[in-house]
Amino acid sequence: MPLRVAFDLDGTVADMYTALHKEALKIFGEEVLAKAAYKNPPPPPAPAEGPAEAGRPAGDEGAKPEDATTAMAMDELRLTARQQMQLWDHVKQIDDFWTTLPELEPGIIARIASVAMARRWEVIFFTTRPATAGEFVQLQSQRWLDAHGFRYPSVYVVQRSRGRIADALQLDAFVDDRAENCLDIAVESKAKVILVWHGHLKDVPAGAKRLGVRPVSTISEAIGLLEHLDDVRSQPGIVRTLKRAFGRTNPDE
Ligand SMILES: [Mg+2]
Repeated sequence: MPLRVAFDLDGTVADMYTALHKEALKIFGEEVLAKAAYKNPPPPPAPAEGPAEAGRPAGDEGAKPEDATTAMAMDELRLTARQQMQLWDHVKQIDDFWTTLPELEPGIIARIASVAMARRWEVIFFTTRPATAGEFVQLQSQRWLDAHGFRYPSVYVVQRSRGRIADALQLDAFVDDRAENCLDIAVESKAKVILVWHGHLKDVPAGAKRLGVRPVSTISEAIGLLEHLDDVRSQPGIVRTLKRAFGRTNPDE
């Protein structure tokens, strides 16, 4: 059986923050952005002790983006709520905005593609990106992946619980940058969960560690873990090594 692996897009392989920052510069200018960063305190860390919120579609109040990752990138710019709305109004009018993002690590999509091809992995990409002008989100995302070296990408735009989807699709592994998503996936499915964490590893929510979610600082590291998982899977005798690598995934085991 090939390894079935899912990757989230924004904050995991696609650099939403840089793309938003570029657009924010165009509409507010450098001075306003610098002032915002100076005046507004950094956002509080996401409450991610439990998977309680994970299954719920993100709120759709006002004109702010619905996707939680988009909202996270917005928060990082430290803009006021009104400025965020202005920025989002601007962004959603950009034709094929989702094709303009840089990769979070240069060359990472081609790397995923080549490892997946060599090891015959089945890869699926998930996103909750909201719509923008131009093509529909799925096609924009597919074009982006293709342009960065992943041919024939499977992309699914989902709002509902990633955990239940991971379970239904019998995924072996899931790579995501949101602790809430990771907890949901760890609770609802048998997939090994890798959290791409951009802060200090000591700040990873304890709940995630308890559930065997494996935090990494880079997507390259995540690929290394997936290769290890793949190796161990094909050698049934060393299940213990696997458990050591990922921690316990099921408290009942
Ligand atoms: Mg994300």
